[in-house]
Amino acid sequence: MDALNAVIIGHVDHGKSSFIGRLLYDLGCLSHEQMERLNILGNENGELEFAHIMDSFEEERLFGMTMDTSNISFKHGERQYVIIDVPGHYELLAKMVTGAHCADAALLVIDVREGLQRQTKLHCRLLHMLNIKEIVVLVNKMDLANFGREEFDRVRADTVSFLESINMEPRHVIPVSASSGDNIAAESANMPWYGGPTAASALNSLTAKTQILREVCFPVQDVYEFDGEKIIAGRIESGSIFPGQRLMMFPDRAYYSVKEIKKFGKPGIERADEGECVGLVFGEKDLTAIKRGAVFTDSDDFRVGARLKGRVFWISGEPCAVGSRYSICCATQAAPGRVTGISNRVHVSVDGEIECLESADNLSLGEIADIEIDSDRSLVFQTANSSKLSNFVMKKDEVLIAGGGSFHD
Ligand code: GDP
Repeated sequence: MDALNAVIIGHVDHGKSSFIGRLLYDLGCLSHEQMERLNILGNENGELEFAHIMDSFEEERLFGMTMDTSNISFKHGERQYVIIDVPGHYELLAKMVTGAHCADAALLVIDVREGLQRQTKLHCRLLHMLNIKEIVVLVNKMDLANFGREEFDRVRADTVSFLESINMEPRHVIPVSASSGDNIAAESANMPWYGGPTAASALNSLTAKTQILREVCFPVQDVYEFDGEKIIAGRIESGSIFPGQRLMMFPDRAYYSVKEIKKFGKPGIERADEGECVGLVFGEKDLTAIKRGAVFTDSDDFRVGARLKGRVFWISGEPCAVGSRYSICCATQAAPGRVTGISNRVHVSVDGEIECLESADNLSLGEIADIEIDSDRSLVFQTANSSKLSNFVMKKDEVLIAGGGSFHD
């Protein structure tokens, strides 16, 4: 069965982390260490606090790498799942854009007491623009509404009518409680009035987008040297890597053979898959050309170039103007570049309303447009919509994220 990448969205505190933690717990996907940690870090009433599982994922990351979004990968039954957790704040929407680009489906978590909030509406608009059609709505914290049908029906009706207004239709709307595990992996005895699937079976029923990436994409995060051996560290963005495999490195287009895969605490790894952070040891003697930003692959479907075109979502208070310079970051690459053109401007309000704008030489907060960039250095990139190398963010002064988007032809 195809792997499923699902982005999880929802207003802050509506229960995204708790849902993910609870799902992994109920499906038996937690390691011994994570279970222990969960038992130690209960809340003041001695109850398990499922949101903490997300923190332990944070710690497990090899070599302390940082990522644009947190991806939680797990296997259940025959299927590999990747849940992409994106920040919910307006200022961080660029991450949402870049994170959600790789998604097949979306999980929308709504606190039954608060209903659909405006930020979440905006996120739904973006999902629509990103062509993500498989949506499951989880109406959470049903325990705090006495598992009441009326409360659920009210939130469901509001959510479905909003989604309909932007031409979206959820596959399922499920009443859940992440804290008490109702309708997460097991049917809830507290809500006999609900006859639909649990969250786990709803996830299992979703279809992945047809062009699932099987090619290897391994952007180099860092090169370490231990005991005279060079370890190339990074995260496998797609495909699988195994010892003996020959991979091509972009931009040089030179071949290297994988001698060994290293993962913290796990010797003798025979294969590593999408979503895993690993260290690769190559058989070649001269590895001096391998640097942060290089990309290893088994395909030649990558481009190398300095004239870039992309669609961006602008999230900085300082407008983007033709002629301005930014740092263009794509996977682990970063290069300074200049904006040379802006076209097809659209404005998205905080409430999620969309309005087409006349053409102009600049781009303001909350606007989406097609832009052209001349980069000072060539970047390795792709123009397919679903790969890590087809997304980029623009930064100013190395810290501030100005905008994010995807490359196109
Ligand atoms: P996030 O910001 O969306 O990731 O939300 P969290 O998962 O961190 O949850 C926010 C708070 O709501 C935490 O204190 C959770 O314990 C609590 N919470 C989450 N789900 C439930 C639920 O189903 N029932 C109850 N009673 N509390 C919940």
